[in-house]
Amino acid sequence: MSKYDFDLFVIGAGSGGVRASRISAGYGARVAVAEASYLGGTCVNLGCVPKKLMVYASSFSAAATDAAGFGWTVPAPTFDWPIFIANKDREIERLNGIYRRLLEDSGVRIVEGRARLLDRNTVEVNGERFTTERVLIATGGRPFIPPIPGAELGITSDQVFHLEKQPKKIAIMGGGYIAVEFAGIFNGLGTEVMLNYRGPLFLRGFDDDLRSTLAEEMTKRGIDLRFNSLVERIECTGDKYAVTLNSGEVIETDELLCAIGRVPNTAGLGLEEIGVDLTERGAVVVDENLESSVSGVYAIGDCIDRVALTPVALAEGMAIAERLYNDNPTVVDYTNIPSAVFSQPNIGTVGLTEADARKDGFDVEIYRSTFRPMVHTMSGRNEKTMMKLVVDRKTDRVLGVHMVGPDAGEIIQGMAVALKAGATKATFDSTIGIHPTAAEEFVTMRTPVE
Ligand SMILES: Cc1cc2nc3c(=O)[nH]c(=O)nc-3n(C[C@H](O)[C@H](O)[C@H](O)COP(=O)(O)OP(=O)(O)OC[C@H]3O[C@@H](n4cnc5c(N)ncnc54)[C@H](O)[C@@H]3O)c2cc1C
Repeated sequence: MSKYDFDLFVIGAGSGGVRASRISAGYGARVAVAEASYLGGTCVNLGCVPKKLMVYASSFSAAATDAAGFGWTVPAPTFDWPIFIANKDREIERLNGIYRRLLEDSGVRIVEGRARLLDRNTVEVNGERFTTERVLIATGGRPFIPPIPGAELGITSDQVFHLEKQPKKIAIMGGGYIAVEFAGIFNGLGTEVMLNYRGPLFLRGFDDDLRSTLAEEMTKRGIDLRFNSLVERIECTGDKYAVTLNSGEVIETDELLCAIGRVPNTAGLGLEEIGVDLTERGAVVVDENLESSVSGVYAIGDCIDRVALTPVALAEGMAIAERLYNDNPTVVDYTNIPSAVFSQPNIGTVGLTEADARKDGFDVEIYRSTFRPMVHTMSGRNEKTMMKLVVDRKTDRVLGVHMVGPDAGEIIQGMAVALKAGATKATFDSTIGIHPTAAEEFVTMRTPVE
C-alpha cells in the first residue's frame, strides 16, 4: 500500500490535465485532479469551442448574401447576441457535464478549488492537504495584458465570450490567430472592426503567401487592417473608449480587445519555492519526458510553452499516462503539427513554410494555385482560394502544405497524415482527386512556380 493519498495529483482540469487524469486512472493509478474554475479548461470554456461556435454564428451573414446568386431571396438577416450567448452557454454547460462524467467514470477524484504545492509530494486545495507520489502541472495559460495606460479598460478573449451586448464597433490589438479570428467573427456579426498590429503583416510564423492572401480577403470583407500600428493609450469617454494610436490618430470604439499573446499560468503555484525551474516567461522547464527539474513533478500543455494547441496538450497528457502507468515510454513528436486559423476564409497549414524551408537549407520547389472557389462563381463574391506546396527538390518530399480558403482546416488534416507518412510530390501526383472539390487541387498542381 502506498504511503501517499494518490499516485498522481493533477493541477488543472483542462485539455491536458483531463486526458492525463482519466487515462492514468484507467491504467489503475489513484488520481486526483484540482480545478479552480470550470472542467474542460480554456479549450471548452474560453477557447476553441466557444470560439468556433462564434465563427459558425458569424458565417451566416455571408451565406445569406451569397445565396442571392443561387436564386434565393433572403431578407436582410439580423443577429440576436443574447440568444446566441444563451445557446452557446447551454452547450458549454453540457460539455462541462461530459467532462465531469468522463473523470468520475474513470475513478478520478475531482477537487474543486485552487491548488498550490507545499512540497513535491503535498498539494493544498482550500486548506485541505493531499499527499501524492507524483504531481502533474497542467495549469494552461492566460492572456497577456500590455503595459500601456488604460489597458485595464480593454477586454481579453476571456471576457469576449460573455459580453452583455454586441459592440457596434470594436478595435482589436494583436496579430496572432486569436486576434485574426475575432476580427472575422465580429465582422461577420455586423460589428465594425479595426485590427491593429505592431508588425508589417499579421500571423507571424505562418507562410507568407497565407498571410498576404488572408490580409487581402479580410480587407475585401470590410475589416480595417492597420499594420505597423500600435495602441498607445486607452481612455474612457462615457460609454465608449478613445484609443490613441502611434500615428496620433484617436479612434472611438465600443470595445477594445487585447489579443497580443498568452503567457504560462504558473504564478502562485509554489513552484519556485520547491525548486522547479521556470523560464523567463514563467513556463515550467521540462525534459523530453515532460519531467521538471524536481523529480516526480511533471508539466504539460500551455504551461510548458511549447506548442499551445489543444491536441498537443492531449498528446502530452497521453504520453504522461503511457510512460508512468502503462509501462509504455512515449515521447511526443512535435514535427508536422497541423493547425488552422478559423478566419474567414480559413487557413489550414502543416509542415515548413517556404521561408523556413529555405532557411533550413532546402532547395525548394514551390507549387501554388490561386483561384475563385466554385461556390463564388455563382455567388459573385470576389474571394480567392490559395493553395501551396513546398517540396524538397532533392528528395521530392513534400515539406509543407498551406491553404487559405473554405474548409482549409478540414482539408489540411488529411494532408498532415500524408506528411507524417513522408509523402513525396510523386505520391501526391499519383493520388486521384475528388471532383469537384478545392482539395483536388493539391493532387493536380503539376508546374512549379518557383
Ligand atoms: C481564444 C482561444 C482560442 C483557441 N482556439 C484554439 C483552437 O482553435 N485550436 C486549438 O487547438 N487550440 C486553441 N486554443 C488553445 C487551447 O485552448 C489551449 O492550447 C489548451 O486549452 C491548453 O490546454 P491545457 O491543458 O494546457 O490548459 P487549459 O485548457 O488552459 O487548462 C488549464 C486549467 O487549469 C486550471 N488551473 C490553473 N491554475 C490552477 C490552480 N492553481 N489550481 C487548480 N486549477 C488551476 C484552469 O482553471 C484551467 O481550467 C485557443 C485558446 C484561446 C484562448
